[in-house]
Amino acid sequence: MWLKVEALQPTGSFKLRGIGNVCQKYLLNGAGRFISSSGGNAGIAVAYSGRKLGIPVTVVVPESTTKRAIEAIKQENAEVIIKGKTWQDAHNYSATLTDRSSVYIHPFDNPLIWTGHSTIIDEVIKSNLFPDVVILSVGGGGLLCGTIEGLRRNEMINVPILAVETDGADSLSASIKAGQHIELEDIKSIATSLGAKKVATAAYDWCHKHEVISHVVSDKDSVDACLQFSIDHRLLVEPACGASLSTLYNPVEVLTDKENILVIVCGGAGVTFAQIDAWKQLLDNNIIDEDVKESVP
Ligand SMILES: *Cc1c(COP(=O)(O)O)cnc(C)c1O
Repeated sequence: MWLKVEALQPTGSFKLRGIGNVCQKYLLNGAGRFISSSGGNAGIAVAYSGRKLGIPVTVVVPESTTKRAIEAIKQENAEVIIKGKTWQDAHNYSATLTDRSSVYIHPFDNPLIWTGHSTIIDEVIKSNLFPDVVILSVGGGGLLCGTIEGLRRNEMINVPILAVETDGADSLSASIKAGQHIELEDIKSIATSLGAKKVATAAYDWCHKHEVISHVVSDKDSVDACLQFSIDHRLLVEPACGASLSTLYNPVEVLTDKENILVIVCGGAGVTFAQIDAWKQLLDNNIIDEDVKESVP
């Protein structure tokens, strides 16, 4: 098994690849401000990219956003505006801020994001690893689109993807099952970084053109995988990432005949040991179900 450890990116997740690429392109096109409505890893990546490129950044987040997330964004010198109860409120407000020079940076649905993410596969191939399968987590499907783009650019069109979601944030799985591109009513998973109610159209479309094996795991298995991974590799990752890792700790049938298994360890900054412990307590005692946090793409 091979780990592509995106948890070690400066912002703690792979998001910087795609978002860094978008921000650079928009700067060349004259952008004077970047706007994000993500209190999660996407918002942190926009804030980091803006600081590096010398462009001011505004991140609009809902009241439910943790203090820690807001601090992480402010640390990158970005302006944080707290607006509304839900992510949708914050998002709607952020749309009113865009003008001729301010551009909104979407967390997953933009071809430039996918091209940025696709460099993961270029690096893997450069290090002479030719995987038989790639395991990754799916939120809105940006990582999925980028990984497939990278595989196909490197003539690895037959390499399947094990696309992992958590139960309650399983928007790709639900669409595949329904045979159409559908939206979940709400998100019921602690893996908030996977909490897109509807995946990008391109992500859904890829499932008809590339072998994508959809797989859904429980929140509990994801948190257990985070804990086990922290013991095995001394790295703390979000449950969004633990979802992918859990397929190694609780083997999935499609992996049994594979020799080189590549896992994208997507990471995530929104996690502490105290939080993992709290989730573990709640999940072991079956307390969490309805009352999970607002999704943070
Ligand atoms: C954003 C994110 C995901 C999901 O990525 P998508 O491109 O939205 O599918 C998974 N894990 C982490 C840690 C993330 O930040």
